[in-house]
Amino acid sequence: MIEDLHGKVILVTGSSTGIGAAAARAFGRNHAKVVVHYNRSTGPAQEVADDIVKAGGEAIVLQADVTDTSAIRTLVEKTVAHFGRLDVLVNNAGDLVERCPLAEVSDAFFDQVMHLNARSVIVACREAVPFMRRQGGGNIINVTSVAARSGGGPGSIMYAAAKGFVSTATHGLAKELVKDRIRVNAVAPGVIDTPFQIRHTNAQQMEGFRAGIPMQRFGTSDECAGAFLYLASDQLSSYVTGEIIEVNGGQLMP
Ligand code: NDP
Repeated sequence: MIEDLHGKVILVTGSSTGIGAAAARAFGRNHAKVVVHYNRSTGPAQEVADDIVKAGGEAIVLQADVTDTSAIRTLVEKTVAHFGRLDVLVNNAGDLVERCPLAEVSDAFFDQVMHLNARSVIVACREAVPFMRRQGGGNIINVTSVAARSGGGPGSIMYAAAKGFVSTATHGLAKELVKDRIRVNAVAPGVIDTPFQIRHTNAQQMEGFRAGIPMQRFGTSDECAGAFLYLASDQLSSYVTGEIIEVNGGQLMP
């Protein structure tokens, strides 16, 4: 049990499935008050919330499309209205959308990927920070990707570049918000076995990825959860800001 997570109000975007769901459950096991946010996966989001309550935490489930700025604003406002504060914002919602070579990158596709993976992070921070500032501090954890540094797999120019934005914004946000006692860090997963990969990566591509990973296997969502716990806990990481924790089995080392 990480004592200082007990009772912390934590909004995890995209916590209906995959990495976000594992992080939300891990916060629940540490008796946090968790907002389980989803877009389309209503049933899985409710299951995550039920597991959190069973583990001794508190949970509510909120829907929002993070490509919609006003929906993010409402999500943050509902979080504070329900729990009275917001201690930790985890900007996890994101997607590759589809594998798309350069010649097929339309302006609409560019906007779709950037709004989902990059603008959503800035908007969520912009909406959450005033509440954190008023309560005397807070904590933001962004989710970037090994793709931010590697350029990504086939057809993921836009996704990788959007994650590069998230990594760079993490550094800029960390510097700007340090005066408000808000730490900003990121988790950079490698190839993690989630619905994301099932949607976007065929068996041959997966084998190609696996062969390039020193651990010779993919990671699990649960194996990412520890990085979120560490960064969310002042007890464990109070002097850490602007850091990007790579969780990638050695796939890419800075
Ligand atoms: P999943 O597809 O399992 O989870 C994605 C989550 O994001 C879901 O909860 C989904 O909600 C939510 N989401 C997607 N689009 C929207 C939207 N428009 N509005 C609101 N929520 C949305 O994938 P992962 O768990 O793998 O991905 C989580 C994060 O990790 C992403 O940012 C991804 O880019 C990143 N990542 C993943 C890697 C991997 O190998 N899996 C590697 C590196 C980074 P819902 O299902 O309810 O619609």
